[in-house]
Amino acid sequence: MPRLIDTLPSLAKEIVELLSKQNEHELAAQVAELTIVDRCRCGDDFCATFYTQPKPHGSYGPNHRNVDLEPESGYLILDVVSERIMAIEVLYRDEIRQTIQASIP
Ligand SMILES: [Zn+2]
Repeated sequence: MPRLIDTLPSLAKEIVELLSKQNEHELAAQVAELTIVDRCRCGDDFCATFYTQPKPHGSYGPNHRNVDLEPESGYLILDVVSERIMAIEVLYRDEIRQTIQASIP
């Protein structure tokens, strides 16, 4: 499985910087080790969401939280369960969507 930092190095750097800005240092420290397990298959043309842990059956449960980042363009939202990054919702970022689709057909 491809590592995020190899597939999308500039996005990985951006996420680390935005997490650090929000004092989410423990999450920022995980980014270098994240792998892209799968991408979202919803088919929306603005969606470049991907999973960094296997997709759950059903919901993420009570230990889930969203971490909204503030990128200069589009939306970046982390799905975190028990302080582990499970998925990264990436919306309205065409260049990332193209790379994700090429890497994870
Ligand atoms: Zn999607």
